[in-house]
Amino acid sequence: MNDQSRRSALWPALVAPADHGRSDLCATGARGVRVRYDDGTERLCGTSGLWNTPLGYGNEAITQAAAAALTDASYLGVFRYENAYARRAADALVEVAGPAHYQRVMFSTSGGAANDLVTKIVRHYQLVAGRPRRAVVVGLRSSYHGLTFGSFALTGDDLGQALYRVDQRYVRHVTPNRIDELDELMRRQGDQIAAVVVEPVLGTGALPLERAFVDRLLAHRRTHGYLLVADEVATGFGRTGPFFASAAWSEQPDLLVTSKGLTNGTMAAAAVLLGTEVAEALEGVGAVVSHAETQAGTPPTCAAILATLAEFTRLDAIARGHALGASLDARLARLVEAHPLLESTTGVGLFRALRVRTPQGAALPDAEVPALVGAVRAEGAVVHPGPAGIQLLPALVYTEDELDELVDAVARGLDRYADATR
Ligand code: PLP
Repeated sequence: MNDQSRRSALWPALVAPADHGRSDLCATGARGVRVRYDDGTERLCGTSGLWNTPLGYGNEAITQAAAAALTDASYLGVFRYENAYARRAADALVEVAGPAHYQRVMFSTSGGAANDLVTKIVRHYQLVAGRPRRAVVVGLRSSYHGLTFGSFALTGDDLGQALYRVDQRYVRHVTPNRIDELDELMRRQGDQIAAVVVEPVLGTGALPLERAFVDRLLAHRRTHGYLLVADEVATGFGRTGPFFASAAWSEQPDLLVTSKGLTNGTMAAAAVLLGTEVAEALEGVGAVVSHAETQAGTPPTCAAILATLAEFTRLDAIARGHALGASLDARLARLVEAHPLLESTTGVGLFRALRVRTPQGAALPDAEVPALVGAVRAEGAVVHPGPAGIQLLPALVYTEDELDELVDAVARGLDRYADATR
């Protein structure tokens, strides 16, 4: 059999063409916190899927709720209509995010599309508020908001924006936690800014926003009248401790975006939660936000959202995630002490990154990261690539033993990588 005939037609995104359709490991199933592969092996999942299965794989309460809804109402949309499942899911999301602040929910199908919706909402809001000059949206350098054209423009790493002619004329970026840059931007262009969109913990490198930076964002919001948006696609659903990370801010964001975790990875879903002021301003003038997605807010998706929220309560997942986050913190601190290749760890809760050195002592170059990820995988655990290292985002329902297994696999993976590069 030649190479070509062994290859599947699959063109996986973000994979070099030489590897299309023939990854050395092909996943065939997943259960609990483990993934099975076509060579008969299984591995501990240290990434909660793509950070979106906080309750582990195959939670039956969730899959059965989605399956029952598929039978009951295989498709009903929210494109000009309402359906009872979507109403209940919207109300439940407001309840968990804080009904004193959030008032409305618009459904989407991905984090990227939801951030496009955000861009429309903030510009529409500024028009309604009589400030048509405010069209600029500010994001952070190194941020990730998705790869649809709107969210791509906001994403703060260079991932091909110029190549694809992504229009960034109405986007500005500031360095995370650099108050001086933020102040300077506000001084120069404060009257043009419609919104600032931030991840409470930047996914790239698991970098938490510092309290002083968030406080300055809140202060500038009061002065300049922009909207503050929390992109909680990754930080939601207990990943950093609280249900939503921005709940720990001294004031709440105007809009909150949620996606990963929302259906525990079972259905494509995202939602934008609108704070009262924005919702009332738009509704007050009868604004119709021009955004619709055929598969948003369908009964199976919304049943999965409702079941996920119910399972969070039944499993006491937030408290378990808190405790597990503290354990992971302690284990990683010990590992950084013990392992010569480990430089430092960043992040919070179950959202962690490890920065790694080469055996020669330099920061691990980007080109070496796949080799390290592969070495940890060969030792039995799936981890995420990160800047100069790897990222760990285990499920909230890990046991302490599974956490030991994960950290041990990382330690052995570092040894294996060191041996291979000697
Ligand atoms: N926003 C954040 C903070 C994310 O982490 C991601 C995905 O990793 C996205 C947006 C994009 O979500 P999606 O892949 O569903 O478009």
